[in-house]
Amino acid sequence: MSDVIRKDPRLAWIARNRLHARHTELSGQPSRGPTGLLRKNPRPRWQYGPGGLRRLDRLNLQGAGVTSLVRRASEQPPLPLHSVENPQHYIAVWLPLSGGRLTAHGKDVLGLAQQLAAAQHQATAVLGLVCGELKESIDEAGVDRLLQLDGAEGYQPEAWAELCRQTEHHYRPLHWLLPDAGESAELGRRLAVALGERPATGVWKWENDRVIARSGAGHQDIIRPLCRVLLPLEECAMPCTEYRYQALPVKLEAEPLAAARVQDRGRVAVDPADIPLSEAEFILSAGNGVHDWQQFHQAATLLGAAEGASRVAVDDGFMPRSRQVGATGTWVSARVYIAVGISGAVQHLQGLGKVEKVVAINQDADCDMVKRAGLSVIGDSHEILAALMALAEAGSEREVSNAA
Ligand SMILES: Cc1cc2nc3c(=O)[nH]c(=O)nc-3n(C[C@H](O)[C@H](O)[C@H](O)COP(=O)(O)OP(=O)(O)OC[C@H]3O[C@@H](n4cnc5c(N)ncnc54)[C@H](O)[C@@H]3O)c2cc1C
Repeated sequence: MSDVIRKDPRLAWIARNRLHARHTELSGQPSRGPTGLLRKNPRPRWQYGPGGLRRLDRLNLQGAGVTSLVRRASEQPPLPLHSVENPQHYIAVWLPLSGGRLTAHGKDVLGLAQQLAAAQHQATAVLGLVCGELKESIDEAGVDRLLQLDGAEGYQPEAWAELCRQTEHHYRPLHWLLPDAGESAELGRRLAVALGERPATGVWKWENDRVIARSGAGHQDIIRPLCRVLLPLEECAMPCTEYRYQALPVKLEAEPLAAARVQDRGRVAVDPADIPLSEAEFILSAGNGVHDWQQFHQAATLLGAAEGASRVAVDDGFMPRSRQVGATGTWVSARVYIAVGISGAVQHLQGLGKVEKVVAINQDADCDMVKRAGLSVIGDSHEILAALMALAEAGSEREVSNAA
């Protein structure tokens, strides 16, 4: 077990639930004083992070006598193992990777696949298909059997479709699930043609023998019978959180692949400034708390991040309108969004609905952006950006010397 710190969802739920008997203990708030009055410690609790920066101890990790809401993974009781012995059927799921990791969309689709498997009368395993190197453990994602496909790394839609066709021949899955986004959306349509099946695209809900799918350019829903090839949207189901899964490796004796007509000529390096905000994976966003704009642009270039901004930064003329994030700007779906000096007004937060990880850099530990963020660094934006740039430079120098 690693020492990665994980939040215990049950303890966090108790901490939010004022009616629970252990709420006071876990919320970190002292309850009542000797006179019966509610008392709250007005002083923020601080701790120092590994870089020496002062951080607000929002989870009261150092609070005496208060049970912590987070535990180290090594202290956490292991999740129960969900095992499928001698599966009679399979539900196949194509798992796109981003930087060697499962995407949030892929995890949602695995959640749906496990629901479909649980509804079968005979032992049914979720078969995850992965093309490329996996850089994280996936034993909690919902994969019972893992089929690692070789020889089709990069953008190889014809080879992927052929490998799926061979998998179909070998495992005869009850259903094929492929996230309806990006390259896997294209693969899903190719596979459906190869299998002679009519796919259900834009699926966001499954109910018994039917699915509900988005249609009409996202303006209407249609109901379709449950079919073999499903292309679900993000949030089609809750990702799996209750069990560990076996993720037993299985093999496919793949036949040689025919010469591809589509050639992957490699990725083209693009200036992050040219990436539309809605498609950017990593955004460094500036608000009214940024005072050194030259430093902000340097930091974005050094980190390879696309630049975003709050409306105040745009209205004040520091950033172009196309970079505004929020209700009246762009709704972003980045994996990481660093908000520098942004208070987190509701109109701004509306644009962050699909962001995976928010990092807040702010002087005000109580602002709404800090509440929304998974990680917050409290302090002056100029100093923190300078420290971040120094770390990034040291990191890239280390990479160069390792490579030499
Ligand atoms: C109809 C309508 C639509 C809107 N649409 C949008 C929209 O799409 N997008 C949007 O962003 N806003 C939108 N707004 C505006 C929104 O309500 C807020 O006014 C705006 O988001 C605030 O921007 P800000 O957080 O950069 O500035 P502020 O609210 O001024 O916050 C600045 C933050 O920086 C911090 N700070 C100050 N100095 C430092 C320092 N040296 N170091 C670190 N932190 C520091 C402060 O603590 C504060 O949290 C809309 C408003 C309306 C009425």
